[in-house]
Amino acid sequence: MALRGKTALVTGSTSGIGLGIARALADQGARLIFNGMATPEQEESVRLELTERSGEISLYWNEDLTRGAQLLPALAALGPVDVLVNNAGIQHTAPVEEFPPERWESILSLNLSAAFYTIHALLPAMNGRGWGRIINVASAHGLVASVHKAAYVAAKHGLVGLTKVVALEQAGRGVTCNSLCPGWVLTPLVQQQIESRAAQEDISVEQARHDLLLEKQPSGHFTTVEQLGQWAVFLCSPACDNVTGTSLPVDGGWTAR
Ligand code: NAD
Repeated sequence: MALRGKTALVTGSTSGIGLGIARALADQGARLIFNGMATPEQEESVRLELTERSGEISLYWNEDLTRGAQLLPALAALGPVDVLVNNAGIQHTAPVEEFPPERWESILSLNLSAAFYTIHALLPAMNGRGWGRIINVASAHGLVASVHKAAYVAAKHGLVGLTKVVALEQAGRGVTCNSLCPGWVLTPLVQQQIESRAAQEDISVEQARHDLLLEKQPSGHFTTVEQLGQWAVFLCSPACDNVTGTSLPVDGGWTAR
């Protein structure tokens, strides 16, 4: 219960990696503010689960994070946040000359600009308390590129850059800012890519999953959302008081090549 008394906001935490991180922080006693595009049933089930794990009443922040500067009043209304996890993200794949401009705009807006707005709004309260943890869920694609992912790779490289700037500006002030850079994690976002690969190549979903994994991730294993949750807890621990500005690959060797 190392995070008892702290409030954590995890964006995009109604599913996948964000939910894994929210669960792990709740298990440490943090009060959770969770967010994402959820049905009322999903919202209720996540709210109950996080409240039960943490012992503190969790709050659903029902916000579409692609709204840019319009997010600022809603962020101000949230109150102080001690642990900010910028996780919400989407993907679209296409060659750059065919990439739909509206998809470019929405990916940049959610995967990069939303993190700027949350940090911009929530940092002053962290400074006021002399302690804060900012964890940006970037990607192996924040460190290296792949074809057909122009917007995603640009946004994730941007997020790694933003992480470094915030870390430098906050150095020595009790607030750290780091990126987690996962390789493949089997979540709805990746399942979509597996299914579209199976359809395009006329192969089974199992074969497509196998091919997708081994093409990039030498370990041959998906990273799990539970492992990423434990990384977030570690970054909040005293062991990481002096860890800031890093981009930590959790990628089965993807970026070692
Ligand atoms: P996911 O699709 O399971 O979850 C995405 C979350 O973002 C959901 O809660 C969804 O409701 C929320 N979301 C989507 N649009 C939103 C919006 N406009 N406003 C607010 N919330 C919104 O995906 P995931 O795989 O868990 O991805 C989470 C993060 O991890 C993303 O930033 C992704 O780029 C990153 N990531 C994923 C992988 C992977 O292999 N799955 C690898 C590296 C990085």
